[in-house]
Amino acid sequence: MEVFELVEKYGHEQVVFAHDKVSGLKAIIAIHDTTLGPALGGCRMWPYESEEEALNDVLRLSRGMTYKNSAMGLNFGGGKAVIIGDPRQDKSEELFRAFGKFVHSLGGRYITAEDVSITTEDIGLANLETPYVAGVAGKSGNPSPATAYGTFVGMKAAVKEVYGSEDLKGKKVAIQGAGSVGYYLAKHLHEAGAEILVSDIYEEKLRPFVENFNATVVGPNEIYSVDADVFAPCALGGIVNDKTIPQFKFRIVAGSANNQLGEPRHGEMLKERGILYIPDYVINGGGVINVAGEFESGGYNRDRAYAQIATIYDKVEKLIAISKERNILTAEAADIMAEERIEKLGRLKRIHLG
Ligand code: NAD
Repeated sequence: MEVFELVEKYGHEQVVFAHDKVSGLKAIIAIHDTTLGPALGGCRMWPYESEEEALNDVLRLSRGMTYKNSAMGLNFGGGKAVIIGDPRQDKSEELFRAFGKFVHSLGGRYITAEDVSITTEDIGLANLETPYVAGVAGKSGNPSPATAYGTFVGMKAAVKEVYGSEDLKGKKVAIQGAGSVGYYLAKHLHEAGAEILVSDIYEEKLRPFVENFNATVVGPNEIYSVDADVFAPCALGGIVNDKTIPQFKFRIVAGSANNQLGEPRHGEMLKERGILYIPDYVINGGGVINVAGEFESGGYNRDRAYAQIATIYDKVEKLIAISKERNILTAEAADIMAEERIEKLGRLKRIHLG
């Protein structure tokens, strides 16, 4: 594996390999692009099977954060960290404090937060060693409710496009993944009068959906073929693929999961079938808007953050308009929106000040 070849391919600025013998920390921090500001993106802990897998993951995810932060109108660049290890066995105070020290060594070029398997407690430990963290308990905290709210408003914009009204009353929404985001999304949908179908691989996760939102449970493999208006992937990536798309009766795919399309060509397959796909990094940007609120003047303010998250509705409308005007995929339209902002604001650096 040629590291610089990969870094050149994705266009990263900096990749840091961090190791601490005492805690056993093995982490990779990737800073993709800081044109818009310090790189902001979560840390993921995962028992990667190889270093190559971990490196690929952090490079891909950090690049995704550059696009997401730009599309959300934030003044942050893109970065991400991965810790190689089993979150069920390898977590310790010293591990996260060591991680915090390495984050600190970057002098604020990278700000970390929660991602898969990382809790607010873990971030709190890193915070003992560095101020360059977000999603801290007592400030913005767990980003899942904010992500769910953004997904909800983005879904409404998609429903308006397809059905002529954003009203979700009576609409059937199939949620894959009864986790944190899935739960809060279901709550909004239930309040809006939607019918909910839900799947998860763990039965106990489904109970609150049935009890609180009158949801219908379907099997993990059945969720792709149910009769519903909207498919909301809130579990895994890669689930929109050659096997699943032919089963879809949905008119819309709009959910929080990262990297939903198996490959970019699956966006084309959806379009051919008249299914509107709302690009994941736009519709799931509520969480990062929420954590970024910790760096606004006066500190985190929930009302201000949620007002900003509500603009995901306009962003979805805008990307649909671009995709129609230019006859391109919605995913391509999202990329254009994100790239244009970086390009335009990057040019400001050319203005010499005194
Ligand atoms: P979570 O771990 O709380 O929930 C995921 C759920 O999916 C779990 O209940 C899990 O059992 C279930 N699941 C796993 N495999 C499944 C399968 N094959 N079929 C059905 N269910 C399955 O995670 P979360 O925080 O709710 O995040 C959900 C998705 O949204 C993830 O892809 C995450 O990367 C993405 N996302 C989350 C946030 C956030 O703020 N939490 C922000 C942006 C993106």
